[in-house]
Amino acid sequence: MDSSSVDIVLNKGGHNKSFEVKIYRIHTTKIMSFPNGSDAEGVLKRLEDYAKNDFEPHSRRMWGHIYYAGLKDVVELARKAYLMYMDKTMLDFTCFPSLLRMEREVVRMASSLLNGDEEVVGNFTYGGTESIMLALKAAREKFRKEEGGNVVPEIVLPATAHPAFWKSAEYLGMRCLRAKLDDELRADVETVKELVGDKTAMIVGSAPNYPFGVVDDIKALSDIAVDGKLWLHVDACLGGFHLPFFRELGEKIPDFDFSVEGVHSISADFHKYGLSPRGASVILYRNAKLREGQIFVMASWPGYPLVNTAVLSTRSAGTLAAAWAVMSYLGFDGYLKLAKKTLYAKKRLIDGLTELGLELLGSPEGAVLAFTSERHNLFKVSTLMAEKGWYVQSQPGSKKLGFPRSLHFSVIPGHAEVVDEFLEDMREVLPECECSYPEMSSFDVSKLKFGEDGLPEDSELISELIHSMPPEIVESVFKQFINELIFR
Ligand SMILES: *Cc1c(COP(=O)(O)O)cnc(C)c1O
Repeated sequence: MDSSSVDIVLNKGGHNKSFEVKIYRIHTTKIMSFPNGSDAEGVLKRLEDYAKNDFEPHSRRMWGHIYYAGLKDVVELARKAYLMYMDKTMLDFTCFPSLLRMEREVVRMASSLLNGDEEVVGNFTYGGTESIMLALKAAREKFRKEEGGNVVPEIVLPATAHPAFWKSAEYLGMRCLRAKLDDELRADVETVKELVGDKTAMIVGSAPNYPFGVVDDIKALSDIAVDGKLWLHVDACLGGFHLPFFRELGEKIPDFDFSVEGVHSISADFHKYGLSPRGASVILYRNAKLREGQIFVMASWPGYPLVNTAVLSTRSAGTLAAAWAVMSYLGFDGYLKLAKKTLYAKKRLIDGLTELGLELLGSPEGAVLAFTSERHNLFKVSTLMAEKGWYVQSQPGSKKLGFPRSLHFSVIPGHAEVVDEFLEDMREVLPECECSYPEMSSFDVSKLKFGEDGLPEDSELISELIHSMPPEIVESVFKQFINELIFR
């Protein structure tokens, strides 16, 4: 670490001085100039070398980020489909009519699974964030048309709603109002009612939310939406492609889709429980009128008329073809079989971790869940499990906002075969983690150690720092950290 280069001192007026932060520059980039070219074999070899510190996505040892069916044939099919369409662009569907056809078909597949009728329309996007951003834009345009353009439109969402809503609001000049959670970690319906007003352009519910896997009371949110003639968006990025199958298997899944009257739009990710390669999601609207504000057209330049249904313009059709292929291949029965494995792994995990003394948060209906503990340092659990080759995601929560520290688990079908091995490793690790969290009132970030990839090694400390610091300080420090250090 070269400590001579950059000092960032963060000292926001009014905030605790002990959160003064120094950040030092480290150098990790070896390539400092444009390459001279090399043989293909050498290039591939280097790519392989670069991956040496990465987790293996198909190892089943990751309890987050990776949604893997656990089936080699699905991966092989997705890769073939991806390669077949990789070089085609979704920018211009008049050159590649096959893409228009596939897009219509994946929209129908998703819509039929989510109780949509023939009025439902939608578009393929590159991810949940893009789907959400488009729904916000459509709702914003509708709001402006009806209410005029002079106010900042507001989105009322539960504290558990995905940051993609906050990000989209920042991009689109909208404002998020955070509703409290009730005792079961669902959106507190009374708070939502209080927050709704003249400026409300959208209410949001999750099915389920990411942090705890709990499905919001979409029916109650729908009542508010119907009463106030408001737009209700359901974020089913996670649940869209597993909750319907869990229900089919006899699980109690509350109504969350187009069967609920007030639902205007739904986001659902093919690249999560649709089990397709990354870069694949869908945004659905109850009817075409609601989608109007999503579409961007520009004909006043000397080039081709630009027509975009998504945020991104030029993009590979590979991910669309892969999602189309995976769904066509697995079909309803294929997903059902996989959902059964996921459900088995989920139940084993809950029973096992509960027996080991951890505490499940809420009653997650979905495949995603979180555990907390009074007795253990959960961030240390993450560290020690990583040493055993498992990725267990720390959720730092926030002292100030009253969010607990927890460990997150996104359960996938492939976990069915490894869950017992995982629980054995947890049994070994947990006694070592019966300790408290470090005192954070005066921590000097410059003491952090960095690995050869330029990433900080003290993830435990960082998690505790995030828990202890006010979130606006965390956000500010992170922005500087990322800008000055990580991406350079
Ligand atoms: C993953 C996720 C998103 C955002 O999706 P990306 O594909 O990461 O852009 C939104 N909402 C929920 C509930 C999610 O789990």
